[in-house]
Amino acid sequence: MKHLLLATALILAACSGAETAANAPEPDPKPAPQAASAEAPAKPNITSQKLSESMYMLLGPGGNIGVNIGADGVYMIDDKFSRFGQEIIDVVAGLTDKPITYVLNTHHHGDHTGANAEMRDVGATVVAHNNVRARMGISYMNKAFGREQAARDVSLWPVLTFSDEMTFWFNGEEVKAIHMPAAHTDGDAIVHFVQSNVVHMGDNYFRDMLPFVDVDSGGTLQGMIKAQQMAYDMSDDNTKIIPGHGALATKADLGESIQRLQAIHDRVKARKDAGESLEAIIAADPLADMTELEAFIKKPAMITAAWRSLGGDI
Ligand SMILES: [Zn+2]
Repeated sequence: MKHLLLATALILAACSGAETAANAPEPDPKPAPQAASAEAPAKPNITSQKLSESMYMLLGPGGNIGVNIGADGVYMIDDKFSRFGQEIIDVVAGLTDKPITYVLNTHHHGDHTGANAEMRDVGATVVAHNNVRARMGISYMNKAFGREQAARDVSLWPVLTFSDEMTFWFNGEEVKAIHMPAAHTDGDAIVHFVQSNVVHMGDNYFRDMLPFVDVDSGGTLQGMIKAQQMAYDMSDDNTKIIPGHGALATKADLGESIQRLQAIHDRVKARKDAGESLEAIIAADPLADMTELEAFIKKPAMITAAWRSLGGDI
């Protein structure tokens, strides 16, 4: 009997571990924080950086959060992982006594939408592009990582969705959420706070690191370049640009990124057009000058994403 109980306990432990793995967030450039924090939560994971009287950026594991506060309430962009939901709520409560009214998801990945249920529990309305909700409801094969991506629980799905563009008139601010087709995924939005002069890029911008292009979710490198170019064009020298991952950026930083992504595209395209195989291109190391930008995404994965964005098979 004792052995049976022990065996049952082990099976239960294994199941809960499997569930954690099945619900594992999509790519995060930071090293697997979910594994460590399962045993050791606590300690400040989430910190805030003030951008203006009404805007903050919340840093920590997962995608960068943008927070707009004012008389109407809190407008938040993305919410990292479920396990940080309460901590995010606490950090926001330290900035304002207003409730979290809206949470906009820049795309469906789990490191940007993981705490949607926690935000809905405190009364927030979760908003995103149509394809974010659609993708959360399906399982799909992620070839880039060789694994099945499970459908997400309905409690995480956005409840208000838009197609091309949506404008919020909130806290005296004009907040434009603009769909970027076939960029990091097929459901990306960049968010422009016109009066505050802040742009949140979602994962269309990984600052100072090779970016992840989720081709399996309808993303393309060319679309990411277009998204960055659009944000660049709507910015000025004082614009504060929140990348999906990495430190706060300027228009000049974004300009560097556009040139870099264009170079990656052009180099891979030239070789592909010349008839080289993907394997030959990777072996030629055409991104040798970008080795220091390797983080979550390494050069072979970057080249493969560029190749697939150009219609190449793997
Ligand atoms: Zn992402």
